[in-house]
Amino acid sequence: MAAKRDYYEVLGINKNATDDEIKKAYRKLAKKYHPDANPNNKEEAEAKFKEVNEAYENLSDPQKRKMYDQFGHNGPQGFGGQGGPFGQGGYYSYSSSGFDNFGDFDLGDIFSSFFGGGFNGRNNSANKNGPRKGADLNVRMDITFEQSYSGVEKEIVITRDEECNVCHGTGAKPGTSPIKCPTCHGTGQVTQVQNTILGQMQTTRTCSACHGTGEIINEPCENCRGKGTVRKQPKIKVKIPAGIDDNQTVVLRGEGEPGKKGGAKGDLYITVKIKNHSVFTRKGNNVLCEIPITITQATLGAELEIPMVDGSKEKYKIPEGTQTGSKFTIRNKGFKSINSNNIGDFIFTVIVQTPKRLSKEQRELLVQLARTMNEQPPVKKRGLFG
Ligand SMILES: [Zn+2]
Ligand SMILES: [Zn+2]
Repeated sequence: MAAKRDYYEVLGINKNATDDEIKKAYRKLAKKYHPDANPNNKEEAEAKFKEVNEAYENLSDPQKRKMYDQFGHNGPQGFGGQGGPFGQGGYYSYSSSGFDNFGDFDLGDIFSSFFGGGFNGRNNSANKNGPRKGADLNVRMDITFEQSYSGVEKEIVITRDEECNVCHGTGAKPGTSPIKCPTCHGTGQVTQVQNTILGQMQTTRTCSACHGTGEIINEPCENCRGKGTVRKQPKIKVKIPAGIDDNQTVVLRGEGEPGKKGGAKGDLYITVKIKNHSVFTRKGNNVLCEIPITITQATLGAELEIPMVDGSKEKYKIPEGTQTGSKFTIRNKGFKSINSNNIGDFIFTVIVQTPKRLSKEQRELLVQLARTMNEQPPVKKRGLFG
């Protein structure tokens, strides 16, 4: 094995380089030596690429950098090429999708796997073995316009996993306990080093013996068949607050799926769908509606009885000479705001209805009215048999 080059030399920076300078140098070189960018010179580029990555990996981590500055390549823990945190030559940790996908990554993906998923992926996978929060559940609830106005308490039936009450979630028959998985030694993962044309690649896979749990259950609980959970359909009481709007969501903490290894339960998200109303609509926190009135009410003025959303009625005087389309506001009879103490208004629009059928008397009165206004109302022709 050729002598290892100094990491600072590899990245072309000096020993006092800032984190930013290290990152910049690395990005530049990784781009330059990326095997995909060097199709005619793949092998050499790949070797450089690895070197650059290893240098970056050690210099970008303050702890490792300090060790390197102090001890060089042959540090007390032998980190560096052998036994380093990524193992021998391992520079790119990826999932089981395999080598074939490598060509599909653009540099952005490579970077994100280094700065994001790639490096941190290990820690994340390690967390799989620790406490994990249960999955959140999403359900939809249909309510009426009136229920959204005054609030409602409803019971819904949801389907979710619940902790098995026989084994209390361990999955092991009562009196027995799960044992540490001998295949992965409880880590839930197995690491393989493969030889590919890019050199040695280290892949980490979920342990197939324990499916990543790190534990093996020799005597499964009979109630849940070792799963630790059972499918249930509990009824859940949901309080929908007054003033909720269409598509708003109510969250019930801890009503989702159970967590793993002592993790918290997931949450239940209830998205409210409000059915359309035949009379009322909502705009912001205001209630809108149209109120039909007669020509005489519009002309002479009237006291109207306006139906409110809560089923009560409000008296409202419209003045004489009210035009069709006029809007009137009854204060504080709209929706309660969910986020504040504000209350919206009730706004109604009057629509003057032109009568379609008149009695003989009504017609005569109107003809008289028309004549006082210097109009010549058409004389109604009688039909043949009229
Ligand atoms: Zn059980
Ligand atoms: Zn295992």
